Amino acid sequence: MSHKDLKFNSLTIHGGQKPDEAYGSVIPPIYQTSTYTQAAPGEHKGYEYSRSGNPTRTALEDSIASIENGKHGMAFGSGLAAIDCILKLLKSGDEVISSNDLYGGSYRIFTKIFEPLGIKFHFVPMTNIEAVKARINENTKLIWVETPTNPMMNIIDIKAMAAVAKSAGALLAVDNTFATPYLQQPLNLGADIVMHSATKYLGGHSDVVMGLLAVKDQEIAERLYFIQKSSGAICGPMDAFLVLRGIKTLAVRMQRHCENGRELAYFLRNHPKVAKVFWPGFEDHPNHNIAKSQMADFGGMMSFTLASGNFEDTIKVVSSFKLITLGESLGGVESLAGHPASMSHGSIPKMEREKTGIVDSLIRLSVGIEDVEDLKADLHQALNTI
Ligand SMILES: *Cc1c(COP(=O)(O)O)cnc(C)c1O
Repeated sequence: MSHKDLKFNSLTIHGGQKPDEAYGSVIPPIYQTSTYTQAAPGEHKGYEYSRSGNPTRTALEDSIASIENGKHGMAFGSGLAAIDCILKLLKSGDEVISSNDLYGGSYRIFTKIFEPLGIKFHFVPMTNIEAVKARINENTKLIWVETPTNPMMNIIDIKAMAAVAKSAGALLAVDNTFATPYLQQPLNLGADIVMHSATKYLGGHSDVVMGLLAVKDQEIAERLYFIQKSSGAICGPMDAFLVLRGIKTLAVRMQRHCENGRELAYFLRNHPKVAKVFWPGFEDHPNHNIAKSQMADFGGMMSFTLASGNFEDTIKVVSSFKLITLGESLGGVESLAGHPASMSHGSIPKMEREKTGIVDSLIRLSVGIEDVEDLKADLHQALNTI
């Protein structure tokens, strides 16, 4: 049976993987080496130097290509290093259209690293396709989509964005970190490049920082691979091993993240101390129908505001969790809470931030795979401290 006929839950375990040729080890060994012996100059077994390629990294790169239904994968030292690689496809004078509701670090690399190099960024509400079309001109080279958005949980229509990108002759890149390929496969919806912070759900255990790309097109893959080896922001073999291990349980973890997420979304919505819950699974979520059409389920990410709306109360609640961890990051087996205004989105000016809904009382929750009753009890006691 060819791997390409396998279904997703099998691909996470077998996709792109083959037993190691040396001893038949089922799990790809950690090739902790910088270089490879050559019998004569240029005569080697496919690897010359670990910046350009390493067998443990190759196994992971084949795995992400397989589970995103791409043909080529690339692994980097962080999600932002993967974003950096995509942006280096551009040159001075090129323009990018992106969402105004975006991961803070993406906003920072766009505006603080690449804008000074002459690339122009437009931030628009991407749930409005006309607003995106209005920014298209002959310099538009990249459309950058993150969906669900962080932390407001808006859903952007990937298929519609792919059509806009195509007619503009621009590439469409999708940050698929929140959804994971378990919930959403952007390449199938017309995206050219899919990007992950594998630090989050793909790694899944909060023990590694990594970025991944997957593409279908050979030419784009070659350009990205050239940047990967030339700029050199690769990941090490130990980290590649850890993320490969994480991906094997992605499907079962995501199933539980979704179940717990659904329970907690309704629990919070009915809680008197909570004003509003942002979760795309609600039928009255403004983009629910798009979420339903492009995602297999609604995931374990959500955010909510407090009825009191007050900054001090919010700090009190997030500091009172006993089981839920207060911290940056998301997508691990343990539940994590964050306060975007002072943490992940602290680098976005307050005025910009509040325009997109990131108010002082907004709390973001990455629902883990603990027993959901314990999570409810912890949320309840923390909310009752105010
Ligand atoms: C964390 C994150 C990133 C950045 O990834 P790192 O691995 O932290 O560099 C990019 N996009 C999203 C949506 C993220 O959550």
